[in-house]
Amino acid sequence: MNYNSPSEIKSILTSSNIALKKRWGQNFLISSAVREKIIELTTPRKGELIWEIGPGLGAMTLPLLRSGARVMAFEIDWGMIRFLEEHFKTYPELRIIQGDVIKTWESVYVESGRPDKIMGNLPYSSASVIIASFIKKGCIPPATVFTIQRELAQRMAASPGTKNYSSFSILFQFAFSIAEKQDIQRGSFYPAPDVVSSLVKAVPAHYDTMPIDREFFFHVIKISFSSRRKTLLNNLLADKKVKEYSVVDPKHAIEKIGFTPGTRAEELRVEDFIGLSNSFSTAKGVVKE
Ligand code: SAM
Repeated sequence: MNYNSPSEIKSILTSSNIALKKRWGQNFLISSAVREKIIELTTPRKGELIWEIGPGLGAMTLPLLRSGARVMAFEIDWGMIRFLEEHFKTYPELRIIQGDVIKTWESVYVESGRPDKIMGNLPYSSASVIIASFIKKGCIPPATVFTIQRELAQRMAASPGTKNYSSFSILFQFAFSIAEKQDIQRGSFYPAPDVVSSLVKAVPAHYDTMPIDREFFFHVIKISFSSRRKTLLNNLLADKKVKEYSVVDPKHAIEKIGFTPGTRAEELRVEDFIGLSNSFSTAKGVVKE
């Protein structure tokens, strides 16, 4: 099929009885230049295991398969799945996993191991939840290439103290470092989305010190930003789980990492949050002994 042609996409959707659903962010890539750029960043190789999130009608699945990669494609829409099964039946290296990727990827991970790469033109409304789920459960492949809403890419790349810096920035930067980022205009998709997109390639990030208790580290990030008007200390003091860890006074934990009680969460880097959550975890460990 001609993936550059909105009229062909429209006629396939009609003949396959597929009605587009806004909540699943079904905007198809119709620019061959953007597809080439995504493939250049993904650099699929023969035999590699690549997870594609949201293959849709297969605009990216086709060049991935042509490279000889093994592709696991996570798709929620039955109409698209039926189309892919029919259209790609000559490619034994394609496996389609039906359902919400957030609910399906873990069992695939247990069964087939970590993929070499994860890529996809992600549905905008759930992109951050999908990425957070990989990070929180420790599925960090050597490379990821995502197309996402520009605002989300700005949060991923934001530096401490800037307006886009949020709990998601810290979560993302804990796991990944951005290797490449560029904007994609609305007209590269059919139907055109309401917002500009960004293409982001990310590789694993490395820190000298890692969280002792990952779950608690993620929790500290989240609650530190729970009220932007409050200081870091007041957000920590208001939290039940931190109270459980309260063998160390939150004020001392903040001072231990070199900040004052008046500090706001957006001033801390990933390393500072690791240090902060570790000072609680270490103290908790001492009590347990
Ligand atoms: N890859 C195609 C392209 O670039 O033309 C389609 C991309 S479209 C932006 C997003 C795709 O993700 C759609 O096919 C949609 O059905 C699928 N999708 C949306 N939410 C999903 C979810 N939670 N799990 C799996 N697939 C999902």
